[in-house]
This record gives sequence, C-alpha cells and structure tokens, in this order.
Amino acid sequence: MGEHHSIIIIGGGPAGYTAAIYAGRANLKPLLAEGYGAGGQLMLTTDVENYPGFPAGIQGPQLMGDLRGQAERFGAQIITADVEKVDLTQRPHRVWIEGTEHTADAVIIATGATARWLNLPSETALRGFGVSTCATCDGFFFKDQRMVVVGGGDSAMEEAIYLTRMAEHVTIVHRRHQFRASDIMARRALENDKIDVRWNAEVIEVLGDGKVEAVRLRDTRTGEEDILPTAALFVAIGHDPTTGLFAGQIDLDDEGYIITDGTRTSREGVFACGDVQDTVYRQAITAAASGCMAAIDAERWLETRNDTQGAAGAATPATKDA
Ligand code: NAP
Repeated sequence: MGEHHSIIIIGGGPAGYTAAIYAGRANLKPLLAEGYGAGGQLMLTTDVENYPGFPAGIQGPQLMGDLRGQAERFGAQIITADVEKVDLTQRPHRVWIEGTEHTADAVIIATGATARWLNLPSETALRGFGVSTCATCDGFFFKDQRMVVVGGGDSAMEEAIYLTRMAEHVTIVHRRHQFRASDIMARRALENDKIDVRWNAEVIEVLGDGKVEAVRLRDTRTGEEDILPTAALFVAIGHDPTTGLFAGQIDLDDEGYIITDGTRTSREGVFACGDVQDTVYRQAITAAASGCMAAIDAERWLETRNDTQGAAGAATPATKDA
C-alpha cells in the first residue's frame, strides 16, 4: 500500500506539470504520475514558437523538462510510470501505479490526447521535418510554400484555412467525395482561393530526404497513383483522448473526452485539465492554463472540506505569483 496524498495528478504534459507547480506551491505535496510518455505531445515537436515568454522559441522537450523541474522544485513527487487502474467511485480515491495502491482526497486528470496518424513508416520518419499534426505550431515554418492537409472533418478545414495565411497554396486530401466537416467550415474551405481539394485520394507515402518534398497519392476508386509536391504534410484526421482508465467512473462525451464544468468532472473531488477535456484549443499554453485552474479548484475544494493536510499553514511565498 502506498501513501495517502492530498492530490494525485495523472499525466505529465503541460497541464499536469502546471497543476503540480500550483499544488506544490500550495504545500499540497502532490504525487504526479507522469506516465512513460512523459512530456506528452510536445515531445514530438521541435521548435515551439508560440509559448509566451520565449521570444526566440524553445524546443518542446526542453519546455517540458523545465516545467517538470519547476514542479519538483515546489515539492511534487514525480513517478515516471503509467497509472494502471483507478477507483474514483469512493473517497479517498484510489490510484494504482506500478502495482502499488495510492489514495488521494482529490485527483487531477491531465492524461491528454493523441493525434491520429496515418501510420505510414515514411510519415513517422519525417515527423518534425515537414510532417505535423498541428498547423498552429508548425505552419509558420513553411511560409510561402505549398502544403497538404489530410482529412475531411472540421479539424482539417480549420487547419487548411489557417495555413492559407502563410502558405502559397494548400491542398486538402480527402479519402471520400464528401467532407465530414460542418457545412459552414466546409464552405469556408471550398470558397478559399488558396485551397483546392483532392477528393477520393489517400496519402500512401511521404517523400523527401531529410524533409518533406512530396506525397504519393492513391485514388481510392481507381487505385491510380500520382505525386503531389509539397513542403509540408499536416495530418488532421482526429484525436483520441486518453480516457480508457476512467470510462464508467466519470462522464465522457461521445468522443471519449471528459465532460467538465470549469475543471470539475462529474465526480466530486476529481478535476480534469488539458487536452483530455478540450476539443477546441489544444494548445500547450491553454493546457498549462487549465492545469493551473484545476490545481486552484482542487485546492479550494479540499479547503472547503477541511481535507487539506498542511495547506492552511502554507509558508508565505518568497516570490510573487504570476
Ligand atoms: P473527425 O470529425 O472525426 O474527422 C476526421 C476526418 O479524418 C474524417 O473526414 C475522416 O474521413 C478522416 N480520416 C480518419 N481517419 C483517416 C485515415 N486513416 N486516413 C484518411 N482520412 C482519415 O475529426 P476532427 O476533424 O478532428 O473533429 C473532431 C471533433 O472536433 C468534431 O466533433 C468536430 O466538429 C470538432 N471540431 C470542431 C472545430 C470547430 O468547430 N472549429 C474544429 C475542429 C474540430 P471520413 O470522413 O471518410 O471518415
């Protein structure tokens, strides 16, 4: 049996680390299970240029390492392992990590989401070198060049429209003859002069030596193949929230995302932040901000129940809060 904790945070991305920084500074001594995939989606990116405070940009893994170090500095106990099982149906909540059962008064879920990939070896090889799942993060690197977006949903429309601000031209490649996207988003994309669509086509290979130079397309009806030159491939075929552990214990929407009111979930004392509950923004900075909110919400929730251990007597901060 492991120790009892005021707060257990599940997930080591910008949301989880930020929650740990705030919970740590509130003297709640959080336990953070960061998972074997510690750092989350930012570990797959190279330059992060839109995280405020880094005018020259910062490498994704560096940013995650810094956030992690900051959480440790304020007393977070970090375990690099996946949570195997949870029981959130009773209090204290129970969380199993590496075969040990830990208990907590409050749990913050920050397990994130994973972008879906096409699962092509050439796509994996060129990830970060022109292959991306985030136009907001990486579009700027291919300014005034041709770009390809794969997908037919709202994400693909949004990514394609966003990319037209910097691209010379954007081609949407969709495997059917009809978009899944909402009418309004589809219309905006179709009416944009910089966008054309390759219907009934799939990307079967990403071509390039060290960087993306083209994609090989196959017609889904005829099987015919051709090559489309491009500087970048944005894969926008959806995300999968990491919520398998929680199904049946807290309310999830149809896509598997955690339903939140602020950061509160349907279960008393369980909070969620970051991409696991966000289908709209999905940015490192919004994940971090919601991690801060979850920690503050959890702290206040603990206080109102007089459950905090030591928080009431927390030392006066030596530095000013942001
Ligand atoms: P989505 O609606 O599930 O669409 C995924 C698209 O990718 C579909 O067109 C699908 O094709 C295609 N696709 C899936 N797997 C593929 C594969 N292996 N190869 C090629 N194509 C593949 O996902 P989403 O666009 O990320 O949207 C998710 C949710 O977020 C939706 O509810 C959406 O409305 C919402 N959203 C809203 C906004 C907004 O309102 N601004 C923006 C983004 C997302 P098929 O159509 O053939 O299945």
